[in-house]
Amino acid sequence: MLTRRKLLKTLSSVPVVGGLVGTGLLTTNMMHAAVETTASRNFFKELGIRTFINAAGTYTSMTGSLMSEQVLSAITYGATEYVDLDELQDKVGERIAQLLECEYATVTSGAFGAMSIGTAGVLSGMDEKIVARLPDSSGIKNEIILQEAHNIGYSKALTNVGAKLVWVKTAKDLEKAINKNTAMLWFLNANTEEGEIKREEFVALGKKHGVPTFIDCAADVPPVENLFKFTKMGFDLVAFSGGKGIRGPQSAGLLLGKRKYIEAARMHTPPRGTTIGRGMKVNKEEVLGMLAALETYLNKDHDAEWKLWESQIKLISDSARSVKGVETEIHVPPHANHVPSLRIKWDENVVKITAEEARKKLKDGHPSIATVGNKDTIGITTWMMIPGQERIVAQRVKEVLENA
Ligand SMILES: *Cc1c(COP(=O)(O)O)cnc(C)c1O
Repeated sequence: MLTRRKLLKTLSSVPVVGGLVGTGLLTTNMMHAAVETTASRNFFKELGIRTFINAAGTYTSMTGSLMSEQVLSAITYGATEYVDLDELQDKVGERIAQLLECEYATVTSGAFGAMSIGTAGVLSGMDEKIVARLPDSSGIKNEIILQEAHNIGYSKALTNVGAKLVWVKTAKDLEKAINKNTAMLWFLNANTEEGEIKREEFVALGKKHGVPTFIDCAADVPPVENLFKFTKMGFDLVAFSGGKGIRGPQSAGLLLGKRKYIEAARMHTPPRGTTIGRGMKVNKEEVLGMLAALETYLNKDHDAEWKLWESQIKLISDSARSVKGVETEIHVPPHANHVPSLRIKWDENVVKITAEEARKKLKDGHPSIATVGNKDTIGITTWMMIPGQERIVAQRVKEVLENA
């Protein structure tokens, strides 16, 4: 795991300075500046921004996850040479497809970007005229069917590129909704339990009617098996976030699945300019960072990591429970953010503080600790912490509740 000291060491030994010195492109002053910039500048402090211990999870507002040294060195390496962007995406797409045993893949600008360009590809196919005119989808198949229970707002990624949404509840409704304008069926894995139609049936319905299926699995790693499971199950397209459980760049993601749709999706991405996806650029740094993150993630000892999370959660749970009137519950969400998680609640007659006040105390304290929760509970996960921070969190939670 990455410590600040190690990170600084990595950054100060990056080959960029040496490489440029060799070409005579750097003056001594510039070199000094480069070393200063990378090795000793505390940007966040300089900007007056407090960093915090992430006891919440992979939240965009909290800047996602932390990247490993392998990922950082891939990014730094990528920044030192020019390559052809399409060739890089082609080759990395093949490599990722091989690693994840699917037909094809591409690195995208997050899971949201994967959904937008994937949908754009399904709508346009390889037709350059349609590629050029999206989000105007008049006269082409442009309806996407999804379950009402899967409405959490991320379907905006589909309408952004010109798709129209058709909401259904049951399999019967879904079959009735399919018509000559149906372009795709979209499934949100996080809400599997809430929807009436489950994954296998959903895929079967798509196949029966010859309509491609897309599944949003943004936050569904771990478990690692999910990276393989849904393409094998028969979904035509699968989207993952790069900067959640995989710990790649927060601005990257993966689109996996059928080659013909992913090649069409690529028609919408840079370097091509007059497309709906031009603003969803990923450059070589993110492409290589994503590849390195995926390789690192696949090679991890997932059982050991799970045991670590369980022991961290237990430590914080025990510490909170040592305060009179406090109760805890350890749970694992079945889909999305599938990691050991803790809920802390208490009798406010005994511990005289609201959950919101307690969370604010943790956030405003030293060090600052970010948690999730609602008006009755504090929610904690440890998977985004730097190992060791769980001890600080255990101590601070106890202090805040004890002193209430
Ligand atoms: C996080 C998330 C997204 C967006 O993913 P990004 O990688 O941030 O673009 C989409 N859908 C779900 C269910 C998510 O949890």
